[in-house]
Amino acid sequence: MSFTELRQHDRDRWHALAGRAVEKPETRHFIDGDWVDSVDGGRFETVNPATGEVIAAVSAGTVKDIDRAVASAMAAFQSGAWSKMAPRRRMKVMYGFADLVAEHAEELAVLESLDMGKPIRDVINVDLPLVCETIRFMAECIDKVDGSVTNTASDVLHMVLREPLGVVGAITPWNFPMLMAAWKFAPALAAGNSVVLKPAEQSSLTSARLAELFVRAGGPAGVFNVVNGIGEVAGQALALHNDVAKISFTGSTAVGKLMLQYAGQSNMKHVGLECGGKSPHLFLSDLPDMSAAVKAAYGGVFDNMGEVCAAGSRLLVERPIYDEFIERFTAESQGVYVPGDPLDPGTKMGPLVTKADQQRVLGMIETGRSEGARLVFGGDAPEALEPGAYVNPTLFADVDNRMCIAQQEIFGPVASVIPFDSVDEALAIANDTIYGLAAGLWTRDIDKAFKLVRGLQSGVVWVNTFDNADFTQPFGGYKQSGNARDKCIDSYKSYTQTKSAWVKLSG
Ligand code: NAD
Repeated sequence: MSFTELRQHDRDRWHALAGRAVEKPETRHFIDGDWVDSVDGGRFETVNPATGEVIAAVSAGTVKDIDRAVASAMAAFQSGAWSKMAPRRRMKVMYGFADLVAEHAEELAVLESLDMGKPIRDVINVDLPLVCETIRFMAECIDKVDGSVTNTASDVLHMVLREPLGVVGAITPWNFPMLMAAWKFAPALAAGNSVVLKPAEQSSLTSARLAELFVRAGGPAGVFNVVNGIGEVAGQALALHNDVAKISFTGSTAVGKLMLQYAGQSNMKHVGLECGGKSPHLFLSDLPDMSAAVKAAYGGVFDNMGEVCAAGSRLLVERPIYDEFIERFTAESQGVYVPGDPLDPGTKMGPLVTKADQQRVLGMIETGRSEGARLVFGGDAPEALEPGAYVNPTLFADVDNRMCIAQQEIFGPVASVIPFDSVDEALAIANDTIYGLAAGLWTRDIDKAFKLVRGLQSGVVWVNTFDNADFTQPFGGYKQSGNARDKCIDSYKSYTQTKSAWVKLSG
């Protein structure tokens, strides 16, 4: 069924599909081309955050399951069945894989929405199409990203070969479960590596299905394995494993720092980190289009329930337009992000991922109040949706950048408006954070725009737009937002290593 057809499903249809999906969801690991239970038989529950109901008990991986998966991945890598497959054959499998994901979009979408509360419209319109495109983009790199022959003296031939790393361990978050996984497994697989993926425990139901589809597309068994489990157990075992050549991590900054430690404690593996953010979104008084800017401002912080690493959660607004901006943000965002049933295609805001996250975000809102920020709207949970883990969209104004709500990643639908009086002041406030993932700015003045582009300490800067890009964009952070770049050709290259072959020629 095509994405266009899926967009025609109504709420009843999605609920009927959800009913079927929870009857007997696949909850095991996918190792060596097969569905397997944990060696120790352990399980943990996964809960639908929209209702509080338990969906299923998922196999809980331990060090034994990680060992098994890494051994399978290593054997597959060494066999050369994938790592040495002719490039265009490997491309064909990857394209077939993308097509199979699209064919199974209906069942994958419903599982993703049930498991983490993501609005079904987002899974169908954003996550899944982008998963397919990520696989295709990385497939295109397979015979396009070359090694090189360098300019040397005439009695030398120097070739720089590009080779896969071996076994790549991927550890992923729950906010875009399939997409963040694809940003890792697609370049890693395309470059000829084997993969062991450990998805977030809050959203385990879809990743292993993707690995199965890879095998159904012709990928050799053992090349793509998924072990479900708790971060401190299965994730740690993967990151500490001596046969893992690279750990590719997306998640919080605190856990990202642990990855560097695990690498140091084990085999000095490569570590690619995509971590947290507290993105500044700047609105200068000469901005070209107030309606577009306000829409980008509330979309940039309320989309995906604010559970977005790049969310524009700090809105820096120049004093002359400060009051108008807050009034228009308040008026124009009303009714757009109304918490509701994620399986209703009309819903743009589902619950947060867990009840604990709801309580944490409500706690941060309380902190904002007690710090003296002015609550403009929201600040509570919609009672009618209890026991779902919902939080109403929330706007604070008159925020000082030193407040906790301006410094800490809230990862919920909470925006803070901070006034500024000059470009230099805006830059100082924007950069006053441990994070540096993304930033946005709105101005008509090209000189101001470039001063800000150059001055902002962040891996991504959007000008007169926000959270907008294609696959050519290197996505990743400065400072404690991480060191990796996803999506682009550099991402593909980061799953390879160069080998210099220096050949002395006679005569
Ligand atoms: P998290 O750090 O709690 O968990 C991420 C993953 O790490 C999960 O799979 C978890 O099981 C695992 N993990 C946890 N503790 C571990 C340990 N001790 N050893 C090994 N693995 C461990 O993050 P989260 O709550 O799942 O995701 C939200 C975070 O992810 C936010 O900070 C967000 O900004 C970040 N994020 C960043 C990007 C990016 O591209 N920069 C994208 C999406 C999310």
